[in-house]
Amino acid sequence: MMWRRLLRTESAFSSRAPIALAAAIPVALIARDRASPATSQCEAGYKLTVPPVKRGQRAFTHAGDEKPVFSRVLVTGGAGFLGSNLCRRLLAEGHEVMCLDNFLTSQRSNISDMIGHPRFELIRHDVTENFYCECDYIFNMACPASPPQYQFNPIKTTKISFFGTLHMCGLAKRVKARILQASTGEVYGDPLVHPQPESYWGNVNPIGIRACGNEGKRVAETLCFDYVRSNKVDVRVARIFNTYGPGMHPYDGRVVSNFILQAIEGKDITIYGDGSQTRSFCFVDDMIEGLLQFMDQEKTVGPINLGNPREFSVKELAEIVIEACGSSSKIRFEPLPSDDPTQRNPDITQAKEVMGWEPKTTLKEGIEKTVHYMRQLDLRKYKNPTPDKSLAGW
Ligand code: NAD
Ligand code: UDP
Repeated sequence: MMWRRLLRTESAFSSRAPIALAAAIPVALIARDRASPATSQCEAGYKLTVPPVKRGQRAFTHAGDEKPVFSRVLVTGGAGFLGSNLCRRLLAEGHEVMCLDNFLTSQRSNISDMIGHPRFELIRHDVTENFYCECDYIFNMACPASPPQYQFNPIKTTKISFFGTLHMCGLAKRVKARILQASTGEVYGDPLVHPQPESYWGNVNPIGIRACGNEGKRVAETLCFDYVRSNKVDVRVARIFNTYGPGMHPYDGRVVSNFILQAIEGKDITIYGDGSQTRSFCFVDDMIEGLLQFMDQEKTVGPINLGNPREFSVKELAEIVIEACGSSSKIRFEPLPSDDPTQRNPDITQAKEVMGWEPKTTLKEGIEKTVHYMRQLDLRKYKNPTPDKSLAGW
């Protein structure tokens, strides 16, 4: 049976009567039914592709005078770093935004500028519980992203990845919404293939301290692809690599926020290990653009890598931060946490081919913008979301 995408207009929203705007848009249907090269890729379990289809109207990306379609968008984890930036951009594009969050790793102040906006709704809810609403698109971003935070309550983290994705895919199925699942470059673990293409299955320790984060996201991807195969849910799976920028919680414990805060305060910069491990850092504006373009395209359900292909060692990052802050901080080396990946770098060939997307912001520019953001924060108003490690049994 041909599955048709339903988009709703503002007037349709008020009457609550969905109308078919876009003509029949075949979505990532079961590659098993197709005699195409995609079949073997699907059965290999990593990729489902569909032939490119020109869609009449796009919701999030538009060229020239084309008017984007008004949509009702649910953003889970909408008060967090990526979620809040996404909500702001969606409001600016004219959409109605439902921001769902339980403030596990964020706080209301991160979205206070949007509270009261006529098209913004804040919903305090935990995605591990069922949730019902009417919407056209879902960005499922809810999950702690920083290693110290997702390791703080690891069982909760795995629950969020599994139940959160289950509930959001179930919601997408019921209301025929398109859902973008925020996956991660962590699914590649400590990768033996470098840079990492989407076809690489990874090198993950299933019982280590990072497993709640990376195995959690792997099972979330499994659920998404089973919803595609079993229920024809309109899924997009994005593997997000290290992203930074304004909107980060100053105490979230990730390397960029730690280094900038330390440099601003003139404290030692804490490098874990010898600093030779590498990461590829993507500025938030580039990532949000990539997520919206990926949500708006018809060529692939993913998984697709989104990240900056320029790779830096952690020591190089420390030097860039010290310079950007004009800081006299010294570097202090601390023990490397277990299972800390030695290298991480996305192969973004697919994102370039499918959407023509690639990051534009250099690390130096992005760090300068983030330093500016961090300097104007009133740190007395921020609380470390995971303050007492002993509670987690460390
Ligand atoms: P974040 O911690 O800043 O935001 C996550 C948000 O989800 C927070 O507001 C938190 O309170 C909320 N949340 C957590 N558990 C929840 C629950 N059970 N119910 C409702 N809300 C809940 O993280 P982020 O950097 O914004 O990451 C967003 C998503 O992107 C996550 O899924 C993360 O795994 C993924 N991701 C991010 C990065 C990155 O570098 N920022 C990299 C890879 C993947
Ligand atoms: N790191 C560090 N000092 C810090 C925080 C992190 O050297 O204060 C290192 C960490 O060990 C890892 C890299 O920086 O090798 C990136 O860490 P982050 O927590 O940002 O995310 P990850 O990429 O490991 O998921």
